[in-house]
Amino acid sequence: MLYRAAISLLAACLVAGNVDVKAEGKKMAWPDTIQRLLENTRPLRFKRGGRLPLYLWPAMNPGKLEAADAEKLVRELDRRGVGLVCAWDWNRKEESLAAALSVARAQKKLGQRINIDATSSLYSFFNGDERTAHIDREGKPFWDGSFGKKDMGCPFALDFRQEDIRRRIEYFADAYAKEKLEVGFVFADWEIDGPLEWNDAWEASRRCQRCREHIPGIDTNFLQFQKDLRDIRSRLQKDNYADPILLRFPKALVGNYAVYPHNGFRYWYDYFEKYGEGQPALADQGARYRHWANEFEQTGYTFAMPVVYTWYGTYLWYDFDAPDYRWFYNMLLVASNPGQYTPPSIPVITFVHWHTTSPPDKPDPSVKQMSEWAYQELLWHMLLRGTDTFFLWCGAEEQVKEVSLLHPVWAAAQEYGEFLEKGTPVTFDVPARPGTVLSALRLGSRLLVRRTDFTSDTRPVTLKVEGRSVAVPAAPSQCQVLTLDEQGS
Ligand SMILES: [Zn+2]
Repeated sequence: MLYRAAISLLAACLVAGNVDVKAEGKKMAWPDTIQRLLENTRPLRFKRGGRLPLYLWPAMNPGKLEAADAEKLVRELDRRGVGLVCAWDWNRKEESLAAALSVARAQKKLGQRINIDATSSLYSFFNGDERTAHIDREGKPFWDGSFGKKDMGCPFALDFRQEDIRRRIEYFADAYAKEKLEVGFVFADWEIDGPLEWNDAWEASRRCQRCREHIPGIDTNFLQFQKDLRDIRSRLQKDNYADPILLRFPKALVGNYAVYPHNGFRYWYDYFEKYGEGQPALADQGARYRHWANEFEQTGYTFAMPVVYTWYGTYLWYDFDAPDYRWFYNMLLVASNPGQYTPPSIPVITFVHWHTTSPPDKPDPSVKQMSEWAYQELLWHMLLRGTDTFFLWCGAEEQVKEVSLLHPVWAAAQEYGEFLEKGTPVTFDVPARPGTVLSALRLGSRLLVRRTDFTSDTRPVTLKVEGRSVAVPAAPSQCQVLTLDEQGS
């Protein structure tokens, strides 16, 4: 996620939320982002049932509301299937707690999930204290500035920072526990802080006498270095964020941006990450898929939070003639990974974003925006490959367009609630060239199938499921419910 942009948007929402919207006897209005959201979405036609709501960056932080207004807003968003999220903002803790509690009380009263953004409370473990810096051979402290945060320091110097962070989470969580407000969903966008192995981090740690003591073989073994850092990173998240929440709210969904089960590889780069020559990776045309440590299990997180974005650089990795397939291919690889490797008991809540993400100042004109059609097809395939719900991230200026693409797909999918709730994905294949892409959820002998064609060949194709098969005809922009043939016939 574009952290800085995200936070400034968050701040804007909070400011808007604090405006006395009822001043001068005017009609009730919500902060701009929320007002626009309500005006540009329709109530659901098919019931959401007990499934997770849709999360949208614009549906956050309405400010401190009177009880009746909070209930009205929670109800209006729920009619559209959208969950309202409030931040636990440590920088203005009393004010932020009061605003969040006003919404939480309404959510409890209406039987809705209480949704929290804990991001700001987790920043920063690396708070500029010199004790958290690396130490060179002469004993002098130094930082690694390669991530855009000036005080990224030594992974082995963070123990004393934990209590400060944990107490912030406890401060908010205790206030909810005291009022018997059962927290249901807590996410964080904790990215550039704590141990990270990319950019110049390996080089910095090799220069640091403390890191050298802790990691034998640090000069040559990047994967060991990665594992050791991710172990620490996971423990920081578990002990100071996940555990304090789960101790008080054992059923809560707790997770963090970009932390999810996977097959050992990551198919995308965040905006602040770069590939280092010589680091082990899987090559696929111009792409370099990085080895990724198994960090999810050790965090104690109770939901997975993959990131499926149109990162600018992705388009240039591949040579496919069909421009859309350059995006679609990569994003389906990214989405299928947690879909396949996350246990069914762990929901997958995936961050999505359509506008070309994090372009440089002078973008290459050959990089074509993903088409709206391909993006909406991708969303369908994600739902049929294990994504339980989406979390839209976007800037304020992108909001109307982003919501207009995502919400209708999610709303239409509710028609197939039984499949979404009880169905099992049957394929995670991603064709290596533009062609026919199939995804399906299985319920007994029935399959909910999405077929998307990137060539003009629209003949039926066969989908095989555990020795049984079904012919899938072309059905542009539609889902099909098909029945598997009898075993062996
Ligand atoms: Zn160090």
